[in-house]
Amino acid sequence: RNTMKQAPVGIAILRGLQYIVEMANDAYLQLVDKKENEFVGNPLFDTLPEVEEAVHALLDNVLNTGVPYHGNEVPIPVNRYGKQEVFYFDFLYHPLKEEDGKISGVIAIVTEVTEKVETRKKIEESEQRFQAAVEAVEGILWTNNGKGEMEGEQSGWASLTGQTYEEYQGYGWARTVHPDDAQPTLDAWNEALQERKIFIFEHRVKTKVEGYKYFSIRAIPLLNPDGSLREWVGVHSDIQDQKVREEKKDEFISIASHEMKTPLTTAKAYLQMLELILAENNEDASLYAKKANQSVNRLNELISELLDVSKIRLGKLNYTFTTFNFNEMIESTVENIQLTSLTHSIIKTGQVNDNVTGDIDRLQQVVINLLTNAIKYSPGAEKVFINLAQEKDSITVTVKDAGIGIAQQSLDKIFEKYHRVEEHAVHFQGLGIGLFISYEIIQRHHGRLWAESKPGKGSTFYFTIPVKQ
Ligand code: ADP
Repeated sequence: RNTMKQAPVGIAILRGLQYIVEMANDAYLQLVDKKENEFVGNPLFDTLPEVEEAVHALLDNVLNTGVPYHGNEVPIPVNRYGKQEVFYFDFLYHPLKEEDGKISGVIAIVTEVTEKVETRKKIEESEQRFQAAVEAVEGILWTNNGKGEMEGEQSGWASLTGQTYEEYQGYGWARTVHPDDAQPTLDAWNEALQERKIFIFEHRVKTKVEGYKYFSIRAIPLLNPDGSLREWVGVHSDIQDQKVREEKKDEFISIASHEMKTPLTTAKAYLQMLELILAENNEDASLYAKKANQSVNRLNELISELLDVSKIRLGKLNYTFTTFNFNEMIESTVENIQLTSLTHSIIKTGQVNDNVTGDIDRLQQVVINLLTNAIKYSPGAEKVFINLAQEKDSITVTVKDAGIGIAQQSLDKIFEKYHRVEEHAVHFQGLGIGLFISYEIIQRHHGRLWAESKPGKGSTFYFTIPVKQ
């Protein structure tokens, strides 16, 4: 009896048809929130009327048949700590036999498993929610382990690619990626594995039914408490139609700008001749010819930019690398732009010490783009700043304005093709390709182009490139 009293599971001895509580240990009393003196000695259902419906028949059965009863995670309403709720119990009702074999009562051994059951329910609910999310997203969901390998069953992946279980395990999934996209995918994937940050990418995957198709990928890393990678949950979304539309648009722009370039060059030549002839004998007409010539030049620049975009798309933007005096290039660029701006002064500071290897025209194009943007997007300001600096083997150019600035969520996007910040697009003209081209050019010089900005507080654009390529 003493051992029973101290046992960590609830034990009670119930006698007779009324189930008079002959003994209940501390654990049992705690389970039902009763004092020993109010519980022991009384019929069970007098003190616990709320459990009668759930257990009376079970007890009767044990008493009548002598067959023990095992209850597993049985929900039983219990009135405790001032309110009635359903709790879950594992229990054993064992018949108590007298020496003559008659059954005189039941011994009840009870443990509470409410927490376990509720936790499991929560897990089941969350699993259900996850399954619903899988079905709700338009995409193929997959998981990878902390090493970037596919592990276990991936039914979505299998039906997308037609790969068998064995084929996609480990890095087998990568074999479905288009050969041209395979290396960039692995490079970006390795970087994401190192940095443990959300993986965003686009590539072509060989699908089971329709051959190669474009997908955009987003994968979220899940970390262990110690910060190490546990697994990835990723989605492949079909963007083939969107890509086709984009390609058609790019192609159209490319053809249209090619077509426009020829008549424009001719018009430009005639305008220049006209300007020369008129300069001698008609001042007004000469001024108009000059203005027309300036507009044609601007148009020419726009078309060249559009053509650059299509060259980038086809990987045909050509570079001519030479070694040149970077300071001089910057000075003449600043001078030229200063000539076209009546509103802003361009303040240049710093310098680089060594000659720089790169494509002088393309780098100039970047600087022009950053400076004209700085002027364009700071309408009230009087100054824009450009600073040069060299640190060992790399140089940094900083272009700073006190203009309208860029919101955080737009900062990454401004380097994308055709991207213009929505709030700006209403007030400022542009095609949203200058920074895209600049980004490509700086990348090609193995450098980095980025921006820091706060709305209303101005923007600072930086690029660094190595001194030698
Ligand atoms: P465009 O100026 O022709 O629109 P860009 O590619 O040069 O195209 O720039 C993309 C977008 O980035 C711009 O539309 C503008 O919203 C934003 N942006 C670029 N430079 C600045 C700047 N200095 N200040 C504020 N916004 C800028």
